[in-house]
Parts: sequence; C-alpha cells; structure tokens
Amino acid sequence: MSDTSMFCFQCEQTAGGKGCTRVGVCGKPPEVAGRHDILTASLIELARAAKGKAIGGDADLLIIEGLFATITNVNFDAAWFDAHTAKVRAATAKLGGAPAFDPQTLFHGDTDVTSLRSTLIFGLRGMAAYAHHAHVLGQHDPLVTEWFYKGLFEVGRDHSVDEWVALLMEFGQANLKCMALLDHANTSAYGNPVPTQVSTSREPGPFIVVTGHDLLDLKHLLEQTEGQGINIYTHSEMLPAHAYPELKKYKHLKGNYGTAWQNQQKEFAELPAPILFTTNCLMPPKASYFDRVFTTAMVGFPGTQHIPEDAHGRKDFTSLIRKARELGGWKDTVSGKPLMTGFAHHAVLAVADQVIGAIKAGLIKHIFLVGGCDGAKPGRNYYTEFVEKTPKDTLVLTLACGKYRFNHLDVGTIGPFPRVLDMGQCNDAYSAIQVAVALAKAFNCTVNDLPLSLVLSWYEQKAVCILLTLLSLGIKNIRLGPTLPAFVSPAVLNVLVEKFGIKPITKPDDDLKAILGK
Ligand code: SF4
Repeated sequence: MSDTSMFCFQCEQTAGGKGCTRVGVCGKPPEVAGRHDILTASLIELARAAKGKAIGGDADLLIIEGLFATITNVNFDAAWFDAHTAKVRAATAKLGGAPAFDPQTLFHGDTDVTSLRSTLIFGLRGMAAYAHHAHVLGQHDPLVTEWFYKGLFEVGRDHSVDEWVALLMEFGQANLKCMALLDHANTSAYGNPVPTQVSTSREPGPFIVVTGHDLLDLKHLLEQTEGQGINIYTHSEMLPAHAYPELKKYKHLKGNYGTAWQNQQKEFAELPAPILFTTNCLMPPKASYFDRVFTTAMVGFPGTQHIPEDAHGRKDFTSLIRKARELGGWKDTVSGKPLMTGFAHHAVLAVADQVIGAIKAGLIKHIFLVGGCDGAKPGRNYYTEFVEKTPKDTLVLTLACGKYRFNHLDVGTIGPFPRVLDMGQCNDAYSAIQVAVALAKAFNCTVNDLPLSLVLSWYEQKAVCILLTLLSLGIKNIRLGPTLPAFVSPAVLNVLVEKFGIKPITKPDDDLKAILGK
C-alpha cells in the first residue's frame, strides 16, 4: 500500500459502505492508515515471538496500547505509530524474534476469511480500550491478557470458517471477562453508580469540557481543579461519570455539555473553554477550536496539545487549567433540561424484586435494550423514533452515546421507574448482561425466553467486541443498525443469521410490530 492509498473498513461510516481507499471518512489520512496496518502486523509478530513463553509487563501494555490506538477516531499522529511500532519490534527482538507478518494481507484475500479475520482484529481493538481503562486503575485479568496474545497469534494463522467462528465465540467470552474487570475496576475506585439527575445548565465562569470514557483522567482533573474556580462539564460518553459517588462528590463537576461525539465540530466551535479528549471519538479539529483541544492517553492529533503521564501515572493538567482561565468561560447562566443516568446493574438489581413484580403483574410488558454508538448518518433517527413509539408499558434500557438520540425525550414512567434507564458507557453492556441474566434466573428461563429485545446501533470496534460477547452468550435475534458492517461478507452474514438470528433494523413501526407480535 503506498502513502496515497489505503484500505480501511472497520467502522460504520466507511466510504460507500465498502471501504475507505483514498482518505478515511473519519479524516484518517492514508499515511496513518498504513501505519495502523504496520503496527497491527508488528503486534502479530510480537504474539508469535511470545508463544510458549512467560511474558508480562511492558509487552502486555504495548499490545493493549497498540490495539487501542488503532480504534476509529483515537489517534491520527503518524509519529506516534512509528514510535510505538519501533517499541513493539524491540520487544519482539528481545524475545528472540518471530516470522514476519505482511501487513498487506491483513484485510485482503479470500472474502470470507478476510471477513472473519477482520472481525477478530476489530474485536481485539475494542477489548483493548476496556483493558486499558482497567489497567490505569491497576486492574488486570491474566485470562484477558493471555487472550490478546492468543487472538493476535490466531489472526496470523489460517483457519476454516468453523474454526474462525469458534475463535470469535471464545473471544466473546474473553471480552465478557474484560468488561467484568473494568466494571470491578470502576466500581472499586468510584463506588457503584447511583441514579443521578445531571444538569445541562451552564454557569458563568471558566470551565473545562471532558469527553471520552476514561474516568481516571476525569478524577485527576477534578482533583487538580478543586477550589480553583474552574468548573468541569462532561461531554458525550463521559455523561455516566456523574453517577459514581467518588466523582459526583466534587461540587465543581457541574453537568453535561452537548450531545454525542459526531456533533463536536458544531458544539465546540464557539465554546469559551478547552476540551480534554481522553479516548475516542476525536474528529479532526476545526480551526475554530483547534487551539483548545487537549489530548491524553492513546488519543493524538498532530499539532494539538498532548498531556502525558509521568512515571507514576500522574498527569499534570496545568496547561489545560491555564487555558480555561484565559478563555474565561460562559458569561451568563443558561438553564437546560436535566438528563438521568446511573442505572447500572447494582442500582437496577437493588430493585430487582420490583421489576420482577411489575413484569409478573403485567405493568411491564416488554424490555428493550436500545443502545450502542451514535454517528452522523440520518438513518440513526430510527433509534429516536423507535423509543418514541415504544408502548407506555415497556421499559427501555440504554447505554453508550446512542442514547443522545432519545435521552432528552419525555417518555414517562412505569411505577417508580423512568421508562428510559441509562446504564452507562458502552462497556456497561456488562450491566445489561447482568440484569438480563438475573431476570432469566428469576423467571427460570433463558435470556432468549425473556420479554427482552436488543436493538443495537454500532459505529466502531468496541461495538464489535460487545456484539461478539452477546453472541457468545447465545443471545439471539439482535437487531443491528443503522447498516450492517462492511467487513461482514454475505456468507458470514448467513452464518450470523442462521446461528444467531441477527437482523438488520428496518422501520421502527415494522420492527416494533415484529417484536411485540401486534
Ligand atoms: Fe474509514 Fe472508518 Fe476506517 Fe476511518 S475508521 S478510515 S471512516 S472505515
């Protein structure tokens, strides 16, 4: 692949629904796309070199960071990829070297094999993000770490279709462990989320907007701004942070600003404040706010200010705080409608008896999980319309930034519950699984027998690892949109339809009718 051509089809907005070949729709240039492939190939070589050896420490982190950085909208910095690839190659050499893997072969070859191999690669990238969030909180699971090596090693080998499917299911179980690990890491560090009303009002004075998923970055920033007269607002996937007791205790964590990631170029244009990106989704910053963008961890964009961590894992946010003071913040108070969050598994299972009682009494006729990523496509209005049209005697669980399509709607309550319950970030799919499993146990049936339907939206690779986890749990009849992944070949789609009953979304009315049998 030359520096002027590329091939990437890892996300939902891929060009023409087939693949980005000149420049990414996300803004990823060919020279960065090529480096993603080279880094991925070098990680496969590291996994080959590590085979059969006791590994740990630096090599583990190199793999997790390398995979995480290649997720859509994380890192656009070619120099970062060159430096990281060099470190990976050095680690491989230290282990005695390994047969080379040709990056050109990653996403090319037999259509179905490429489809299955790509699905595993993208799933591994997604899981790496969760493993990284757990890692910064000091939490590791050897089984999850081992699976990064195993997955990369197997990506570099030939398999039959059946073997690939078995690997994907095994990976789904590894990702379940990784989501459990992250849930444990977050709740150990910050407490169990509690139902919380989040302000969307604006207050006068300097402030910083924090976006992405990394709660530790938010925590460090809250500590460093406490008593400084600087307010902190969350954006997009950071909204659920307000529900954690150890984060919500900070009075200057004021509220949530804006909506989902794809609106950032509009929402940040006139913002009198800096923005800290802790993970995806970073869009190429417009000139109107370029000098206000700060990145940290795996996030990178050439020319923006990056805040590194020191040898002790601490980050110095002084430059970000200075920028907030310079910009001065909002001048006036503007009130906004509050949003609810904090219905993670602990909160929902604490009232499990009431939920079960309401289902048995016919007060709750059906539960929908309408969750996943948001994105720019007009077809995503499906999710707004779907939730608007759900009958009043149904409950909607949601998670991830797809909720911004409907979390502002007033769809009422069922007994003591709001009809839409926000369980958290995308990794809190773990909460939805916990709730579904508990309900199945209470009703002495399988999750597939519950009055529960999953209507998911996907955009990037974390959705891939979550989907594989759901499939590995045997969950069937998931509706997926707004379009099916370009990397799923027709034959692989057939397998998914036959084995798991996966369906593309159609129209809200038709899907609701099919689900509820009316
Ligand atoms: Fe295209 Fe998505 Fe790849 Fe970006 S991440 S280059 S938009 S497929």
